[in-house]
Formats: sequence, C-alpha cells, structure tokens
Amino acid sequence: MILTITMNPSVDISYSLNPFKIDDVNRVESVSKTAGGKGLNVARVISQMNEEVKATGIMGGTVGSYISKTLKAENIKQDFLMIKKESRNCIAILHEENQTEILESGPTLEKSEGDLFLKKLSDLLNHVSIVTISGSLPKGLSPKYYQKLISLCEKKKVPVLLDTSGRTLKETISNSSKPLLIKPNETELGDLINKKISNSTDVLKKALSHEIFNEIEYVIVSLGADGAFAKYKESFYRITIPKIKVMNPVGSGDATMAGLAIGLKQKKSIEETLKLGMTTGMLNTMEKKTGFIDKRNFDNYYSKVHVEKVN
Ligand code: ATP
Repeated sequence: MILTITMNPSVDISYSLNPFKIDDVNRVESVSKTAGGKGLNVARVISQMNEEVKATGIMGGTVGSYISKTLKAENIKQDFLMIKKESRNCIAILHEENQTEILESGPTLEKSEGDLFLKKLSDLLNHVSIVTISGSLPKGLSPKYYQKLISLCEKKKVPVLLDTSGRTLKETISNSSKPLLIKPNETELGDLINKKISNSTDVLKKALSHEIFNEIEYVIVSLGADGAFAKYKESFYRITIPKIKVMNPVGSGDATMAGLAIGLKQKKSIEETLKLGMTTGMLNTMEKKTGFIDKRNFDNYYSKVHVEKVN
C-alpha cells in the first residue's frame, strides 16, 4: 500500500461570509470542516481512486481526535503518533470572491517526539511499497528531519515522493539519500535554484539540468492550468492539459502527488504516470472541496492529457 506522511496535520475550517465585516461581529451559517494538511489530501485522493493507503504522521489533543474521527468516517486507514499537544486549526474565510486565511502554526515538538515517530515509521515501512511526504515540518524539528525519514526509507528500500518547499526542500534534496520524485511548482523551482522561472521549454530544461536535481529520478514541475514539465532520468517531457472549469484549485498539487504515487506504485510508464498525476490534479480543481475528486470523470480527462518528449 501507499503510506502518506503528514507531520503537521490540521482541521481545515472554511467560513463563507458575504460580506466579511472587519471590527464587527460576523455570524456564519455555512461552515465546512475537514481533516487537512497536504498529506491528508494526498491520502484522500488515493483512497477515492480505490487504491490502498494508510495515513501517518504526528497529531494530538482534541483537534487530533477530530482528525482521527474524520479519517475513520472516510474509511482511510491511519496510524499516527498521538501526542498530548494540540494539533492546529487552519481557517479560511471565503468572502466576496476572496479567500482570507488564518493558519495556526501547530504544536512545537521535542526531538524525542521526532525520534518516536522515526521508530513508528520504521515498523510501518515493513508493510508499504511507496511513501509520500507532504507539507511543512512542525516547529521544533530540525530542517534536516525529512533527510532522516528518507534515509530510513532508503534502508528499508521503500521509495519516497516528496512535496515540500523552501529551506526544508533544499536541505532534504541536498542529502545523499534522495527521494525518488519531487513535485515543485514554478515558484518552488525558482526558489530552489534562485532563478526566475518562466514556462518556456528552454528555461525549464535549463533549470531542471541544475546539479541539485542530478540523482533525483523524477522532477515534476507542476504549472497549474499549463499542466507540467518533467525531467525523468536524462529526458524531458512537456505535459499539456485541456481547458477545464475550475471550482477550487487549492490542493491540486496534493491530488497530483496522489496520482503520481499511484502510477509509480503500479509501475506504470513515465507517460502514464504523468497523465495520472495531471488527471487527479485537474479533477481536484473541478470540485468545491479541497482534496476531493470525482473518479467518474477520470477516463474522460485522462484521455485529454498529452505527454510529449522534448529533447
Ligand atoms: P497547491 O499548492 O494548491 O496544492 P500546486 O501549486 O502544488 O498546488 P499546481 O501546479 O497549481 O500545484 O497544480 C497541480 C496540477 O493540478 C496541475 O499540474 C494541473 O494538472 C492541475 N491544475 C491546477 N490548477 C489548474 C487549473 N487552473 N486548470 C486546470 N488544471 C489545473
């Protein structure tokens, strides 16, 4: 099965307010609450694609219990390190076509809690064939913590797909144990190599030829409505997608990770894996809820994704 790691999960609360009144009382009728955090979006989409998945990470307190209950109700297997500290709430206020977000940073973890999770992961790795790591690290853990997770996975011969950003991403891929795949978006790619990235094939080829990516087999740059550009071993691919009606693009990167993980787990070709990732990403944008897809639309959109080798 696929194991998804979410180190800093949350309850994502969305309030619809029209208008949103500053320095006044806002009474809200329409509230949605979901188990959030990028890795949980990945787990949900894998599950909606009818693939076996287990969610892990660290969570705690009453918010942690709520996340656990929600995953259970969604029939998603879970095995988290449960701690006493409270997991976080993340609030999105949807108002007049804007989205204002208030994000708690989550609990500050001790090194000992990080070590306990490593021990749990070591056991879980005996039963999984692929791992995804998504999102930011909780406060208190070293930016090198994901390196430790990937080294452990390497020892157990379980490949890792990584989706994080900033310093954590840079530190993690500079280690000798490499993830099998990373999925930066345009901004994250630019941050990694300190260059402004455009959608031109030459610019993207040059960027992905940077030595930082040398031993990473799959580097998939997701480009929102423009699809993606990928490097697989020594080859480059441009992936184009159809124009679609977008309801909510939040979490599309996570849904893409879910499709890529399924493709790799099923040992699909590079072309099929890329098409899978693009299709689950697109299906997420077509739903209101973050990290949700309607699998009934899969075949239709899969057939409209084009992968072209560009050497
Ligand atoms: P997020 O941080 O919201 O999870 P991301 O920046 O990591 O997203 P994107 O590049 O925005 O990832 O999107 C991932 C994939 O989802 C795209 O490659 C594409 O397949 C699909 N997608 C995203 N936005 C759109 C859009 N506006 N129209 C069509 N497809 C989209």
